[in-house]
Amino acid sequence: MTATPPAGTPDRIRLYIGGEWTDAVDGDTFDVLNPATNEVYLQAAAGKKADVDLAVAAAKKAFDEGPWPRMLPRQRSRILHKVADIIESRDDQLAEIETWDSGLPVTQAKGQAQRAAENFRFFADLIVAQEDSAFKVPGRQINYVNRKPIGVAGLITPWNVPFMQESWKLGPALATGNTVVLKPASYTPLSAALWPEIFEEAGVPAGVFNLILGSGSTAGDALVKHPDVPLISFTGDSSTGATLSTNAAPLLKGLSLELGGKSPAIVFADADLEQALDATVFGVFSLNGERCTAGSRVLVQREIYDEFVAAFAARAKNIIVGDPQDPATEVGALVHSNHFDKVMSYVEIGKSEGRLVAGGGRPEAYPEGNWVAPTVFADVAPTARIFQEEIFGPVVSITPFDTDEEALVLANDTRYGLAAYVYTTNLKRAHNFAEAIDSGMVWLNSNNIRDLRTPFGGVKASGLGREGGYRSIDFYTTQQAVHITLNDAHSPRFGKGPDAATSFKKVN
Ligand code: NAP
Repeated sequence: MTATPPAGTPDRIRLYIGGEWTDAVDGDTFDVLNPATNEVYLQAAAGKKADVDLAVAAAKKAFDEGPWPRMLPRQRSRILHKVADIIESRDDQLAEIETWDSGLPVTQAKGQAQRAAENFRFFADLIVAQEDSAFKVPGRQINYVNRKPIGVAGLITPWNVPFMQESWKLGPALATGNTVVLKPASYTPLSAALWPEIFEEAGVPAGVFNLILGSGSTAGDALVKHPDVPLISFTGDSSTGATLSTNAAPLLKGLSLELGGKSPAIVFADADLEQALDATVFGVFSLNGERCTAGSRVLVQREIYDEFVAAFAARAKNIIVGDPQDPATEVGALVHSNHFDKVMSYVEIGKSEGRLVAGGGRPEAYPEGNWVAPTVFADVAPTARIFQEEIFGPVVSITPFDTDEEALVLANDTRYGLAAYVYTTNLKRAHNFAEAIDSGMVWLNSNNIRDLRTPFGGVKASGLGREGGYRSIDFYTTQQAVHITLNDAHSPRFGKGPDAATSFKKVN
């Protein structure tokens, strides 16, 4: 087990406000633990309302008076491409740091670091290609759109793949000319503390990016309730999303909510079954199963059910569970002991709700730390809690179905609607089934392979609003319509009356 932090890991991280590192106003800190050992390895400044006030003031000043919102898109784009270059050039170091903090397997953390770079590159490209419509009424009017950044964006992110999640919001928020206050998750603040150096090196002006560490219920809450923060982009749990919605409502803020999931993976008998097996096993066990779009409910057509369950269980038992820093590891340690306890409680619940065919507890080789063996329950009824509730760990339920109609009812039978995966070689079935599923995203015959131009988000309890491609640009900007008359626009002459005195007369 790797027991020492990667080279360059600090033992203390602070807030970053207006281009300066700073302690919390009250000097408070909180412990950050290593997921493999549950030992405290870092103290992080615990920001509260007073710190959020300072960060928002710095971001507002940079927005009102600084160059960032006034730069040409090409200028911002060049700087954001530099951000991407820097991330790419440090992807190994970033992956090691992220792995140390989150327990993610290092090869997967490296892929996520590269995706973080791509998020900046993508929005840097998009902003220079951005166009807005002009509308002409021949001889009468021409109308065009002024697209403007909104102001200080509050970005609140979760602990799963933290650096990548942060980049997914930072990229478009900054590309569009907003300034930001980022509040990352308290379990995993380490990689967020890398942003200031990256942005400084790339040439992002002071005050444009501000970092507040601290608990969601104090620091996050203060950001959501701050009157000078007109928009909040949040990714996290559905119940937290509902709380944020309530808190943001009195100030009528722009709100984007990317929330939880319990996504179905539907395997029809006519599918390429080896490919479906690869995709469904990866789909639920990658990123330790701590993945919002995990295909955590696998629905399998009855005629191939027994063989598919057997193959799925065999794969799960064979997954390399180990040291997150070992490149061979496929499933690492869960992020925190609290989360480990939650996942293990579902494993116990599952034992009375389904037929355990793989895993079912802590792997023998790991008596300490937050390891859960990849766990598979078969024959799970749709009423089961492990079918309905988001576990967010390496635990999957498998349920048989006979007909397309039955598969659709099962697929839609949860409060969530984030992603869905369908495996079939029947073209008509694939497209019709995809359309009938209540989910924000569907993948046909693959695992979760993203195209950054497409809308990302969920329906039902999985979220509100869409980000991705131009939808992110729309969220982080206002569109002001400007109307120009091309003739003598007629206005009804209210109050004119018969008296000539009601007409305009130039005195001098
Ligand atoms: P969480 O508990 O909801 O926390 C998310 C963030 O919100 C953290 O930074 C948290 O701070 C903060 N927060 C908590 N309470 C708050 C409040 N009252 N006001 C403002 N901020 C508050 O979620 P999580 O456990 O970190 O993340 C896992 C969840 O995220 C899962 O449900 C997963 O499905 C979802 N997720 C969704 C997507 C998506 O795109 N749909 C992607 C990834 C993850 P603290 O860390 O200090 O509590």
